Parts: sequence; structure tokens; C-alpha cells
Amino acid sequence: TEEALRQSQKMEAVGQLTGGIAHDFNNMLAVVVSSLDLLARKYLRDDALAMRYVDSARNATRRAAQLTQRLLAFSRQQPLKPEAVNANRLVAGMSDLLRHSMGGAIEIETVLGGGLWRTHADPNQLENAILNLSVNARDAMPDGGRLTIETANAHLDERYTSEQVGVFPGQYVMVAVSDTGSGMTPEVITRAFDPFFTTKEVGRGTGLGLSQVYGFVKQSGGHVRIYSELAQGTTVKIYLPRLLNAPDEDVTPVASLPMPLS
Ligand code: ADP
Repeated sequence: TEEALRQSQKMEAVGQLTGGIAHDFNNMLAVVVSSLDLLARKYLRDDALAMRYVDSARNATRRAAQLTQRLLAFSRQQPLKPEAVNANRLVAGMSDLLRHSMGGAIEIETVLGGGLWRTHADPNQLENAILNLSVNARDAMPDGGRLTIETANAHLDERYTSEQVGVFPGQYVMVAVSDTGSGMTPEVITRAFDPFFTTKEVGRGTGLGLSQVYGFVKQSGGHVRIYSELAQGTTVKIYLPRLLNAPDEDVTPVASLPMPLS
């Protein structure tokens, strides 16, 4: 559609621009870091107060370096390596990672659909997308709450039929990430996928999480939708195409999966 085209052109332009800036910025940052090291080692070692300033400058450069890494990763638009993926196994395999990133105040629940079809997608990028959505969910629940990850077979309206070969038209594997957090206003929902749109304070949000998810899902021939209610919570559903040549015996019976998240 026109909207999707506009979005992907925007992503491409922003990607090129940020790639260039991040690259140059990274080089300048390297000069700052090595100068600080030299100052610290040669001149300021015995000056406790000066060393405190050096340390805070070093911390800031570390955060700046992390940010440029994210920007570079974003602009690189790594080529996808799609393969047959069992989303239930993938989600189950993320339990430690998720528990670690959610912290103690958030309960984690998974609802894995039985007889789930296999999808055709890059498993690393899918994991990354689920993690991005989960981190957003966490940020929306500063006082705790519940993160739910759900998988299910899904049919979408035929007008969404994918032009891809090798997948079932109209049939998708859905992965939904829900929270019981702050929710979004309609205005935030409409801008949420825009690169660099963030409502988080400077240094906390880059505004790249959802646009990355969007780019991955679109490149995979899928769809993404946001459902959100202020003060109730948010659900982001991603739909990835069902793999055509998946023999039915190959779907995971849900009972055979470890269910470490609860
Ligand atoms: P970032 O998380 O760095 O701000 P994103 O692109 O991931 O960038 O998200 C953009 C914005 O969308 C966020 O700043 C926030 O306002 C909103 N948002 C995303 N996910 C959620 C969520 N689960 N609950 C509430 N708001 C959200």
C-alpha cells in the first residue's frame, strides 16, 4: 500500500543518513575516549577530583558508543536469513533472557498455541523483535505488571495476501506481546513506528525499537498491528507468513515444550 511504501522510503532515507552520521561520530568518539585514557593515565592519576570528572566523561562516552552502535545496526539493515521457524520453540528458548530483562516486578506469562504452523523468517531478528517489544512493555510498567507472549495460527483478510512464493496466502503465525502498562494515546499509536519517534526521556529511548520491528516484519512479508488502551495496556501483534511446505506432523505439540515462564 501507499502507507507501507511511504514508511519504507522513510526508513531507507533515515537509515542512510544515520549510518553516515553514526560512522563519523564514532570516529570522533574514539578520539575522545583515547584522550581521556591518556589524561587519566599520565596526568590525573593522583588527582581524585579530576579522576571523578574523567570517570563521568568516560561513562557518557560509553553510553554514546552504545547509541551509535544501535544506530549503525539500524542503518545497516542486515540482510535477513529466513528459515523455517517454530515460534513456540523460539519463545520458550527466550525464557532466561526475558526474565533477566524484565526484572522482579513483572510477571511473565506465555500462551503458546497448539499445532502451531511453522513460519519463514530470520530467527535472530524475530527474537530481537520480541525482545524489543518486551522491553517497551517493561518500560510501560514501571510499577510492575504482567508481560504476556502469545502465539497462534492466524488468518488475515485476503486483501493482505502476500505476494511471496513458498507461503500460504492469508495464513500467518501470530506472535503477540502484551502488557498491563500505561497504554498509548491515539496520537502516539499513529507515530509509534516512525524512526526516532520516542516519548521517553533523552538517553533512555532511541525511537528505533518499533521501526526496527516494522522493518523486519515487512521484509518478511508479514504485518504488525498495535492495540492499545490508555491506562489499560498494549498489545503488539506481529503476523509472519506460514511456511508452505511444512508437513503437518512437524508442528510442535505444545505439551512437549518446556514451559519455564510462569
Ligand atoms: P523507544 O522505546 O526507544 O521510545 P520505540 O520505537 O520502541 O522507541 O517506541 C516508540 C514509542 O512508542 C515509545 O517511546 C512509547 O511512547 C510508545 N510505546 C511503544 N511500546 C509501548 C508500550 N508497550 N506501551 C506504551 N507505549 C509504548
